Amino acid sequence: MIAERIKELEESMTLAITAKAKAMKAQGEKVIIMASGEPDFDTPQNIKDAAVQAIAQGFTKYTATSGIDELKEALCEKFRHENRIEYTKKNVIVTCGGKQALYNAIQATINSGDEVIIPSPYWVSYVEQVKLAGGKPVILNTGVTGFDLEKLKGALTPRTRMLIINSPNNPTGAVLERATIEGIAALALERKFLVISDEVYERFIYGSGIHHSIASLGPEMKELTITINAFSKTYSMTGWRVGYAAAPEAIIKAMGMVQDHQTSNTSSISQKAALEALKGSQDSVTVMVREFEKRRNYMVERLNAIEGIECPLPPGAFYTFPRVAALYHEKLNGSFAFAERLLEEMKVALIPGVGFGSDEHVRLTYSASLEDIREGMDRIAEFVSLQRSPR
Ligand code: GLU
Repeated sequence: MIAERIKELEESMTLAITAKAKAMKAQGEKVIIMASGEPDFDTPQNIKDAAVQAIAQGFTKYTATSGIDELKEALCEKFRHENRIEYTKKNVIVTCGGKQALYNAIQATINSGDEVIIPSPYWVSYVEQVKLAGGKPVILNTGVTGFDLEKLKGALTPRTRMLIINSPNNPTGAVLERATIEGIAALALERKFLVISDEVYERFIYGSGIHHSIASLGPEMKELTITINAFSKTYSMTGWRVGYAAAPEAIIKAMGMVQDHQTSNTSSISQKAALEALKGSQDSVTVMVREFEKRRNYMVERLNAIEGIECPLPPGAFYTFPRVAALYHEKLNGSFAFAERLLEEMKVALIPGVGFGSDEHVRLTYSASLEDIREGMDRIAEFVSLQRSPR
């Protein structure tokens, strides 16, 4: 009954485990959830007010699929000021979350058999979305902390159509340096492949790191780039479903057609809220990022204090990606078993690294309260000590 291409898909591990943990919590279990990347902060009041006002004013009908003009204009402003890229409204589309922006982009540009290079570790949905478009995901193991340009060069073939980059990275938190981005751009221009640049964590950078958008490197690179972004993380608006993409006009037009036949516009109310998010005070973002930095430092320190766990300090996003493979044994034989047993026995939810392309790791998010993180770390430490003591 089920189509072959759907049978080939893997379940979204981020969503599946979070749903399971939330269901356990709803049944009264004291679960600590450090699974799905969803800020625990409330959506800022000015954004909520804008949505209430939109409803009161009857702004509750279809909009253009690609979004309302005011929002697209505000996005062009944002790209100009924050990312140093010049776009017009025709280069921008508003979508149902960053996930749909990515889906539209891949559907609009990938032909059957086209190779899409995905550096690993990668976010869970890249590979599946490429498969859905009939493309061939080519996984490039670039390691947890860096990016290997030589490896990228070696993976290019005449069928290479696209590379997906994600900085800051989900799940590792790694931030690409300018020299690396320039190296990627030089290869893209020479070999003429498209680059999807997923920049949803651009505001979540700690310390001295700087975010660079590859499309800002010059007009030629801009012609080969599809920049993906969203309101979900930056403004704690995960449930509102507003993402966006910017790209050459022909690609945006094609992406609009994909969306026309799929969802039409994202919610009109959410679009008004997103407009306020861009135009209103950005203080809430600063407060959230500051708080995340404290939590990151605490979590990394606690993880590294557990024997058998190694965790580099991630410079961006809001995840840690510790290596736990040193703890594996016959009954704990991979990241899935690790996550499953931790949830069942200690009521702590995290995501197995295998979903991101590395079975040696697990992913935790510090978009949970410090209190929950503290309790979660205590439970993980206890779980690990139980693994070590003779059973
Ligand atoms: N992007 C977030 C994460 O990686 C939300 C869940 C999802 O859509 O995968 O946890």
